[in-house]
Amino acid sequence: MRIFHTAILVQEAASFGFVPYLAFQHKNEARLGLYDRHRKRILDVACSLKALGDEVPPATMLELIVRGDEAAQIAERLLEHVDELPEEAFADRNARITAPLPRPSKNIFAVGLNYARHNQEFTGSDELPKNPIIFTKAPTSVIGPEDAIELRPDLSPEIDYEGELGVVIGKTGRDIPAEQAQDYIFGYTIVNDVTARDLQKRTSQWFLGKSLDTFCPMGPYLVHKSAVDWPLKLDIRTTVNGEVRQDSNTELLYFDIPTLIATISAGITLEPGDIIATGTPEGVGMGFSPPKFLNAGDVVEIEIEKLGVLRNPVR
Ligand code: MG
Repeated sequence: MRIFHTAILVQEAASFGFVPYLAFQHKNEARLGLYDRHRKRILDVACSLKALGDEVPPATMLELIVRGDEAAQIAERLLEHVDELPEEAFADRNARITAPLPRPSKNIFAVGLNYARHNQEFTGSDELPKNPIIFTKAPTSVIGPEDAIELRPDLSPEIDYEGELGVVIGKTGRDIPAEQAQDYIFGYTIVNDVTARDLQKRTSQWFLGKSLDTFCPMGPYLVHKSAVDWPLKLDIRTTVNGEVRQDSNTELLYFDIPTLIATISAGITLEPGDIIATGTPEGVGMGFSPPKFLNAGDVVEIEIEKLGVLRNPVR
């Protein structure tokens, strides 16, 4: 299983014209990594920068995030000097990649019914929400790539996937105007907003159906915003056991990213490392007749252009 992480990276590397950051575990310690696609190895960012003479390098993803745009320069510098780095600067080949932010400091913000055709399949109506629908997912629901989504048939027989673009906030702000929202973004990742449909629909608050342990797979990378053209037009595709279920593009978000950031930050402080799952396109399991909910043994893969593939087995 662990070796497969590296296999995914190697497979994907060709499609990256830049270098993605990732979080990994080494001896139970959370570390910040950078994927070197030429050597097909993970650089331990702190060890590498120390070897190059930096006294206080960022050691974790959050420490990198607060440095903002410096992240792009750090990546450039490391690759420039990669041949000078000692063997200790590279992560062990069996390093376990985790979610970019394995335990966010607060709930993950999420957006409901934010693609018109998903709104139609969910509500049966063409009437779109007048305001963004914001709910949250518990931080304990986060898992990383390759980690298993755990079904709870005792709680719900209707467990569903939702492939989504995740926006990671880079600096503190409140009452952020939409036209300044881009400045507050650090980068992007992939989120699977796993949902127990019957729990979700039991009450008007969706929290319980969205927050079970393992219900927020995230990753595999955190890609700095400088690597993605603005406004975002990224293909997003979800497959289950290889069958395409969702196939859309983030330009079809009904409320765009600036509107979401302005809405959430109105009177609420956003901080570095906060995550916004921007909503899912049509093609969730409940949209099929009969519905196609997740079963043990399934494999869910969400691919977003430039952000990689988030792959999780179901058990
Ligand atoms: Mg969702």
